[in-house]
Amino acid sequence: MKSKSITVSKKKNIALVAHDHKKQELLEWVKKHEDKLKDHNFIGTGTTAAIISDKTSLDVKRLSSGPLGGDQQLGALISKGEIDILIFFWDPLEAQPHDPDVKALLRISTLYDIAMATSPTTADFILSSPMLFESYEKKMPDSEYSVEERIERDIF
Ligand code: PGA
Repeated sequence: MKSKSITVSKKKNIALVAHDHKKQELLEWVKKHEDKLKDHNFIGTGTTAAIISDKTSLDVKRLSSGPLGGDQQLGALISKGEIDILIFFWDPLEAQPHDPDVKALLRISTLYDIAMATSPTTADFILSSPMLFESYEKKMPDSEYSVEERIERDIF
């Protein structure tokens, strides 16, 4: 797979997502780390973003609710290199109506090698890294040909 180098800036774009039974856990985690988190940018799926914005000092940009397409919107941002860290407290004890979207979000996050935590402990490890406040170089997938080149070269 072809890849390209990108520079992740000091100020990180952090995405927040929590399934219903995990929202309280995410809220507590955010409150615990509010001081460290406040210097970064935030975006989240609808309900998660609304709760965190309402109950903490963080201003979380709101996508659609997860089951209504928010996970997919986040995936699209990740594929454009616009998300650096995903804090995704998914619920391993409850079936989700949007399970394909959940899997897709986990897949695209791994493909684009963003820092991802799916539980408070891993999220704590990410937050305690000095990289949280430093810029760093990383690689992300890059398609061999642009859409225009593919059409021009008859590569379908
Ligand atoms: P929500 O979505 O924040 O809108 O509840 C979370 C999810 O289930 O992906």
